[in-house]
Amino acid sequence: SKELGRNRLSYFTQALHDEARNRLQLINDMRSAIENKQFELHFQPITKLVSGRICKAEALIRWHHPERGMISPAEFIPLAEESGLIVSIGDWVFREAAATAKRWCELFNHELQISLNMSPLQFQSNQLNIEHWLAYLQTIKLEARFLSIEITEGLLLNANDDVKNKLLQFRDAGIDVAIDDFGVGYSALSYLRHLDIDQLKIDRSFIQNLDTAQSDLVLTEAIVIMAQKLGLKVIAEGIETEAQRQLLLDIGCDYGQGYLFSRPLPAAAFEAFFISMQNS
Ligand code: C2E
Ligand code: CA
Ligand code: CA
Ligand code: CA
Repeated sequence: SKELGRNRLSYFTQALHDEARNRLQLINDMRSAIENKQFELHFQPITKLVSGRICKAEALIRWHHPERGMISPAEFIPLAEESGLIVSIGDWVFREAAATAKRWCELFNHELQISLNMSPLQFQSNQLNIEHWLAYLQTIKLEARFLSIEITEGLLLNANDDVKNKLLQFRDAGIDVAIDDFGVGYSALSYLRHLDIDQLKIDRSFIQNLDTAQSDLVLTEAIVIMAQKLGLKVIAEGIETEAQRQLLLDIGCDYGQGYLFSRPLPAAAFEAFFISMQNS
């Protein structure tokens, strides 16, 4: 049994070793992923619940790895954060989202805002250069109101002056700020009083059981009422069923996003979907 213990130990050592090597390999591959054009943004429609019209789209990054195929952002974003590569990836995301928003302004006779996700680590980095981003918007002649950034509550909970100033830079430029995954984690509400937030995105975990769990419905309705009294727009995330959509409409939620409407789509597929919805 001593032998067995040793085998088990070496099995775990080996597994840990493989895991570490796998992470290092992915980080290494990520370094050249931008220049090798392996990243792509997919876009998920955000629908106005009353009219059923698509008003916004969330940009979600995808990585086509040459050997491993599609890697989920849930897997590689944490590694990008750990390695600091999130700053250059985030830079690519901003420019790609802005260029797409510009194309849609020209393609559609319709106001379509694109939201993009920002990691707290981008805000904490001294390499984040918001002036460069704003200059880029001027270069491509895109009005800032066609963009919004999604941040999580954790960033706001302990926001120092530097983070607050960066948020003000976005606000002053006219880029909307949305709180992502609202309701999970900290929910220290007080930041809503003194930071200028435009949108709240209610986390999917509230929406999932809306039709079966009375407490989730009560909480969701309370969030919608609070947000609207504060002048914020509310987006419900992860709507998968017609029953969920109907309940959200009943409690006056402004916007909805989820597989019920569409999965995230490559830009060309999004454009075709948008046009087919406009004509229906
Ligand atoms: P998130 O910002 O909360 O994005 C929503 C996630 O929920 C997306 O997963 C989306 O595909 C998925 N989703 C949308 N509707 C439904 C639904 O009805 N049911 C279910 N079960 N899921 C739904 P995705 O694309 O895999 O992204 C995962 C996370 O990765 C995102 O969560 C976000 O935190 C992060 N992420 C994605 N793109 C970026 C990016 O460009 N930058 C940064 N920093 N993070 C990103
Ligand atoms: Ca998001
Ligand atoms: Ca979210
Ligand atoms: Ca604002």
